[in-house]
Amino acid sequence: MPPNITPITMGITPPDHLPHILDPEFDIRAWLSHAGQPAWRAKAVYRWLHARRADSFSDMTDLPHDLRLQLDAELRIWTTHIARHQVAEDGTEKLLLQLHDGQQIECVLLRDGIRRTVCISSQVGCAMGCVFCASGLDGVIRNLTTGEIVEQLLRLTRLLPPDERLSHIVVMGMGEPLANLDRLLPALAVAQSPDGLGISQRRITISTVGLPSAIDRLCHENPGYHLAVSLHAADDLLRTKLVPVNKSIGVHAILAAADRYWETSGRRLTFEYVLLGNLNDSPDHARSLARFIGKRAALVNIIPYNTVDGLPWEEPTDVSRERFLDVLRNAGINVQTRRRKGSRIDAACGQLRRLAREQHSLPEESDITLSDSE
Ligand code: SAH
Repeated sequence: MPPNITPITMGITPPDHLPHILDPEFDIRAWLSHAGQPAWRAKAVYRWLHARRADSFSDMTDLPHDLRLQLDAELRIWTTHIARHQVAEDGTEKLLLQLHDGQQIECVLLRDGIRRTVCISSQVGCAMGCVFCASGLDGVIRNLTTGEIVEQLLRLTRLLPPDERLSHIVVMGMGEPLANLDRLLPALAVAQSPDGLGISQRRITISTVGLPSAIDRLCHENPGYHLAVSLHAADDLLRTKLVPVNKSIGVHAILAAADRYWETSGRRLTFEYVLLGNLNDSPDHARSLARFIGKRAALVNIIPYNTVDGLPWEEPTDVSRERFLDVLRNAGINVQTRRRKGSRIDAACGQLRRLAREQHSLPEESDITLSDSE
């Protein structure tokens, strides 16, 4: 950057100190005007990055050559690199992204009919401590920046052929999204921009362990998102065993906050329930869940536990799962079972990061694109 140009607000900068253009705090219009360029080029640059899937400034062929060189010298598009890229037989693709400080996060592209859904992370690690989840085994390390969240979306978009678009976003990767709302919400706003990915808010799901004050904040500021609450047990004794953070919250406070969200947003709530063999999968547990949901316009999403190496929990048997579903259906609860996608590539939360760490090797992207399709 020439000495007479002071850096514009930069958000978090990677170690080379170049501003991260994907961070919405970075003011590209101001940068262009400092560079003697018309501010309207900001829209062209934005479209190249978000809608036209440029990988570098040199791809932005309708910008003046000198401007492209200056952008390249002074700004940075990517702060992550792809440490692993795995492709499952069912079309699910998972990226392990290495962040500028060496931390790693995961994000996933799921293909289901015409849907193209991405699952993104909000934090490195997680503080919630759910006993069956790989993400939280070592606690939380840090919040992701807005730019890092946007980067996941753009990296995953680039896995699609040019004629396909992302249709849905679920914030169900590593971390607790409601513990990092300040950075998540601006990233989700970027995802909705008509000049960018153009994803409607109604197609964005935020999954939370259930933090009532943060649910209220979302309700107050931005109630258009689809909210999914990870319940896993309808009584405090069992839920606190499975989700230790529940001890200071309690299921009734969560339900009250979820109800307030529903009243404000009018959007049907989802309750997620990870079904763990011999732990929360009995007909009694199902009855307790049915009572908890009552007459609410809610969907219960049953997620069979995906085994995590080193953890003692069991997958539910087909029999116990069907029995559990029957009890709920007979009680008039709207229920679905999440189909397991990409389990061969360790697509459950935090699993790939652990695997990579255990193997102590992070080869470059081109070396290790795995096709897990045998
Ligand atoms: N912290 C948020 C979002 C991340 S986890 C939350 O708790 O909702 C996204 C979902 O994956 C949660 O419902 C979580 O309980 C579930 N999950 C985590 N580990 C899992 C595993 N090993 N098998 C199945 N589901 C898992």
